[in-house]
Amino acid sequence: MTSTQDRPGVASAHDIAQMNRDYTMFSWSVQGASTPMVMTGGKGSHFTDGNGDSWLDFSSQLINLNVGHQHPRMLEAIKKQVDTLCFAGPSFATEPRGLLGKKLAEVTGLSKAFFTLGGSGANENAIKMARLVTGRDKIITRYRSYHGATMGSMTASGDPRRWPVEPGVPGVVRVFDPYCYRCPFGKTPDSCGRECVSHIEEVIQMEGPTSIAAILVEGITGSNGLIVPPDDYYPKLRALCDRYGILLITDEVMSGFGRTGKWVATQHWGIRPDIITCAKGLTSGYMPLGAVIVNERVANYFEDHMLWGGLTYSGHPVSCAAGVENLAIYEEEHIFERVDELGAHLAARLEAMKAKYACVGDVRYKGLFSVLELVKDKATKEPLAPFNGTSPEMNALAAHIKSKHVYAYSRFNFLWVCPPLVITKDELDAGLDVYEEGLAKVDALLG
Ligand code: PLP
Repeated sequence: MTSTQDRPGVASAHDIAQMNRDYTMFSWSVQGASTPMVMTGGKGSHFTDGNGDSWLDFSSQLINLNVGHQHPRMLEAIKKQVDTLCFAGPSFATEPRGLLGKKLAEVTGLSKAFFTLGGSGANENAIKMARLVTGRDKIITRYRSYHGATMGSMTASGDPRRWPVEPGVPGVVRVFDPYCYRCPFGKTPDSCGRECVSHIEEVIQMEGPTSIAAILVEGITGSNGLIVPPDDYYPKLRALCDRYGILLITDEVMSGFGRTGKWVATQHWGIRPDIITCAKGLTSGYMPLGAVIVNERVANYFEDHMLWGGLTYSGHPVSCAAGVENLAIYEEEHIFERVDELGAHLAARLEAMKAKYACVGDVRYKGLFSVLELVKDKATKEPLAPFNGTSPEMNALAAHIKSKHVYAYSRFNFLWVCPPLVITKDELDAGLDVYEEGLAKVDALLG
């Protein structure tokens, strides 16, 4: 029987942690080794842990909490929708769903949105739609990519997280990334022939051009090292897709909605994909929501063909209301202008770190989406931790940052800076100062 003690609001931090460990499972964790931090509240760029201590959130949780913790307008909009209508089945028309679809068409220049619950579901449905529309089955994706944890999206990913589910779903062909710091073709950006695009054409030829439904790429690669492509990459990729009748799908789950100072990252390079998938910053994480936004060609196809797909919670009114408000906040609080301004400051500080610390091999950034790539040796570029692994130096760096109550995302030899877009300049500097202390420690360890 449930007692009043079993209702939220009364358990101690210790009991909360214990209950979570005993009765729930955590993502990407060896369950017995997981030591989840208790979170009890938050405001702006900070959250509070179970001991009442405040943390600077330098990764916006999972790079999704773009408008920061507990934004009053988000709380208000969600409460208002809850009071009006909590749920309508996915075949019903509701005001928030219509308004959000209309806004997404306006800001992306595409036509219609199909709503999912997050990014994995968006990519699953984008792949399915591309196959239905083109009548082709293969999907080209990149090795350094993550598209989600469900079977299809996981297979579409190049990230080693896909290995345990292989062989996954058939039809995925992977190509190399525009990773100029470690060019897979041994070239440099100013003297190469953009082999990162031309080899895709070769792969298309080898696979059979009429078998390729879509090329699926992250707008800017996120969790595999934040790879910003050279300026002509997307125009060339767009032209390649057009040449072969292949749909270009950009996964803007992480790079979209203000993170780089634009609605979607490809707007930096002036191209328009056929399909955009998004989630995370669409609601800033306040409610679960993803979307597959499609162009006229795809939308028209489904005017007289069945859309073989549906989800009980597609177009959930509370999620869509959160999305509508979130997008209004980006515009009315001039968030993108703020990202441009703070992004320039962040870029200058990252470049200074690269010049100052031996362990900083490269820094890559667009807006408030950025990473430090760490090395043991600048000349050889030997990574500070191996691909898909860790090292004492990376662990020491992460431990230092954590000890200062800065919540940061690090993986392999990468350390991200992706704070809420509402962070102040002082908060940003405070977090970066802690990073610098950690980098100095790593330099000392490397001798
Ligand atoms: N695509 C990208 C680029 C992501 O970064 C993620 C999650 O981190 C996903 C898809 C999966 O989204 P979700 O976790 O909402 O299913």
